[in-house]
Amino acid sequence: MTLDIQTVLIVLLANAVATAIALPVIMGWRVSLAARAFQGASVAQALGWLAFLVATRIDDRLMSSLSMACLSGSFVLLWVALNGWLSARPGRVPLMVLAVLTPAGYFLSFDHYALRVGWSNAGLTLQMLILCAALVAPAPQASRRWRGLVLLCMLTLAAVTAWRGVLGAFFTAEYPFYRATHPVNMAAALLYHVALAMCTIGLLVAWREEAERSLKQQAQTDGLTGLLNRQSFGERAEKIVATAHRYGDPLSLLMLDVDHFKRINDGFGHATGDDALRTMAAALSACVRGGDLISRHGGEEFCVLLNRAGLADGDRFDDRLRAWLRSEVEKLPHALDFSGGLAELQPDESVDALLRRADAALYHAKAAGRGRTKHADIA
Ligand code: GH3
Ligand code: MG
Ligand code: MG
Repeated sequence: MTLDIQTVLIVLLANAVATAIALPVIMGWRVSLAARAFQGASVAQALGWLAFLVATRIDDRLMSSLSMACLSGSFVLLWVALNGWLSARPGRVPLMVLAVLTPAGYFLSFDHYALRVGWSNAGLTLQMLILCAALVAPAPQASRRWRGLVLLCMLTLAAVTAWRGVLGAFFTAEYPFYRATHPVNMAAALLYHVALAMCTIGLLVAWREEAERSLKQQAQTDGLTGLLNRQSFGERAEKIVATAHRYGDPLSLLMLDVDHFKRINDGFGHATGDDALRTMAAALSACVRGGDLISRHGGEEFCVLLNRAGLADGDRFDDRLRAWLRSEVEKLPHALDFSGGLAELQPDESVDALLRRADAALYHAKAAGRGRTKHADIA
């Protein structure tokens, strides 16, 4: 069986073009920035291989440099995708610099074969290694499987690309032409072929993970305020309350309800009412400490679980919240105040019982004239 490099490259191009077309078709256009970058990377790959294949027939220097630029661009886009899916990845600036220097150096050194091959392959190898670093940097929310698969592809490609660079730069006589049917070129083209397919599979899994995370987020949070919804608040509160019981830590719950909220809706419209709810959420988020939980319990009612806090800490939180709101209300066309019920966790008390006591105290605060917070009675 004989394989010539040209055939392998044509099949690689067919694979890259098919992938570049298939991805937006199956994923759609309305996707996240990371997913869009992944689609862009596959288009850049296809263009890169197209330019590489037609280079000898058109303008070798220009088209081959363009091919380098497209491949470098695809690595940058891949980094953007990883940065979106895995959050804050290392290597942005060095990758950008290499993505410019690699094709530029290739273009400028075109007439010096050894320098050009050495330079460009070194540039591509370093870019791949930066992608490897982006894949291995800690990302607890992402599965190791797809990262491992893409990492394996990148490491293999980096090895074969470095091998090409060393042969071209230092053993030029043994490696006469980078399009020749030479073992290193065959290995590189075949590995690119496999890597393209494997990376596509791996990154589609990354995209599915993004969808799963977003669904989970939607299921747990309230769409208007971004706070936890009642159910996920309850589930998380159970764990925190169990820990508080185990260690005998104080813990308090503040339930609050916006006063005369209907007047905001009726007087200024529902959109202003929604803004007022967002302001309440911002106030709560600004005043809690790390480890506290906030939920939109329903309508214009919120709950805050104050971790390691007794009634005195709860009162301080209430004061901070009221002060924050007072300064904010000056900018609003309407009043925005709340009544609250504060309950401290009792020995062996359940979350439901704690919520019921806070709710009863809230009712007393309303009855006593609103705009205040009452302590719950101990059952
Ligand atoms: P009180 O001081 O006794 O709590 O009076 P209130 O007007 O705040 O309470 P009431 O229960 O009479 O009215 C609550 C209103 O909140 C009724 C409902 O239409 C409105 N509401 C519930 N959810 C939303 C929402 O998501 N957006 C907006 N704009 N209004 C909402
Ligand atoms: Mg109300
Ligand atoms: Mg209410």
